[in-house]
Amino acid sequence: MSAPLDVGVIGATGLVGQHLLARLARHPWFRVRWVAASERSAGRLYGELPWRIEAERPAGVEALRVDTPVPGRGPQLLFSALDAATAADLEPALAAAGHTVISNASAHRLREDVPLIVPEINAGAIDLVDRQPWSGALITNPNCSTIFLTLALAPLAAFGLKAVTVTTLQALSGAGYPGVAGLDAINNVVPFIAGEEEKIERETLKILDARFAISAQATRVPVAHGHTEMVSVAFDQRVTAADVRHAWQTFAGDARSRELPSAPPAPLQVLDEDNRPQPRLDVDKGGGMTVTIGRLRPCGVLDWRFAALGHNLVRGAAGAAILNAELAVISCRDGVRVPDARAVAGASFAAAARA
Ligand code: NAP
Repeated sequence: MSAPLDVGVIGATGLVGQHLLARLARHPWFRVRWVAASERSAGRLYGELPWRIEAERPAGVEALRVDTPVPGRGPQLLFSALDAATAADLEPALAAAGHTVISNASAHRLREDVPLIVPEINAGAIDLVDRQPWSGALITNPNCSTIFLTLALAPLAAFGLKAVTVTTLQALSGAGYPGVAGLDAINNVVPFIAGEEEKIERETLKILDARFAISAQATRVPVAHGHTEMVSVAFDQRVTAADVRHAWQTFAGDARSRELPSAPPAPLQVLDEDNRPQPRLDVDKGGGMTVTIGRLRPCGVLDWRFAALGHNLVRGAAGAAILNAELAVISCRDGVRVPDARAVAGASFAAAARA
């Protein structure tokens, strides 16, 4: 690419926003030129604000002054790490002002004209931007638990998914900063995360374009990073353990997803030990972009059961959003591949996609 694309990050002071900044600092296509957050942070130099994640604070953003996310003010391509309530009105307003918004928020994921994308599974859903009413575009990544579940289920879809149950054990960082109060979190399990079960159920069916029975139960556990999921599955046909393992091990994802610079070497990794995956040991596999799976065994109620694990802030949020932005770049012109991303840099992605 001749020159990197200027991008902005909204919600840049939050946990997802900081993971976005850390990952974008070493990105081959994108350069962060604008950061925005709430009135609480606006006007301050980014370097004066607290840095709360393990990754190194990127030097390039220290001197940026934090703005508020006024439509039309930042670069054309924007990452949004807003909460859903703020995103509900603001993200469409940004798209109407011509921005391509790559969103982590749940507010618009289920709109029929909004792509809800896991690039390995449904990269083609990006074409939904053609139906959007804005001069810009709005593209979403799913709820973090949904991403891990759909990556585990997508390779099995060919067997005919009949029913799925999932119980999640979700990390504290999934609630953002400062998240769950210490006295509620330590030595405890909280069997309620507002809206989470509904998101997992509905978003999974939208991404897999399926209608199987699904039941999700979500819990918050005292783990820093990494959501574990205990899953049971029933199929329309007889499926062996070898069939399931082979489907996971050979799953490479949609060809377009393999072109993306943030795609991990393998979207899934099957672990053989009886006591894996574990957040402490496995959450950073593939740089946090690989979902690990293990404990495949017969289920006494459905057919097969297993455990899956993913990094909620990386594969479940910042890394997922960057994959979607990369997909937007390579999808917006027929036959033209990076390094020529002028359609995103200079003009509206949506207009280019419609051309
Ligand atoms: P967070 O740590 O609470 O950060 C929220 C960010 O939004 C902060 O930068 C905050 O700025 C900004 N903000 C709040 N109100 C705003 C407003 N009115 N205008 C502009 N900016 C505003 O939350 P998070 O965990 O990063 O999550 C961000 C989004 O990603 C949420 O929609 C969440 O559901 C989703 N998500 C999170 C995870 C996860 O594991 N945490 C995973 C998947 C998806 P100030 O610092 O100025 O208040």
